[in-house]
Amino acid sequence: MLAPNQLDAVAHAARDTARRIRLAGSDHARDWAGFIDGAIESGLHTAHQIITDLESEN
Ligand SMILES: Cc1cc2nc3c(=O)[nH]c(=O)nc-3n(C[C@H](O)[C@H](O)[C@H](O)COP(=O)(O)OP(=O)(O)OC[C@H]3O[C@@H](n4cnc5c(N)ncnc54)[C@H](O)[C@@H]3O)c2cc1C
Repeated sequence: MLAPNQLDAVAHAARDTARRIRLAGSDHARDWAGFIDGAIESGLHTAHQIITDLESEN
């Protein structure tokens, strides 16, 4: 369980796409954060982001 505003302290690092690390999960969901729908949406979004990044490298 996160404390209030705990994720805000690291949100900038989580959104930093210059690094080769991508985070996904319910806590990073745009909609439905904290719910399974958010976990799925975040996973799909991040997977698409990785594919797009890899395609643009090739
Ligand atoms: C009691 C309870 C009831 C819930 N009921 C509902 C509900 O009715 N409807 C709903 O929509 N949502 C519900 N939720 C919320 C839902 O379960 C979560 O939003 C969802 O599971 C989050 O998915 P996630 O993949 O982001 O994280 P998680 O499901 O927590 O998955 C994270 C995974 O990472 C693994 N992990 C953690 N640290 C490490 C590490 N260092 N190295 C390797 N692996 C690691 C964990 O073992 C885990 O398997 C409920 C949650 C709880 C706790």
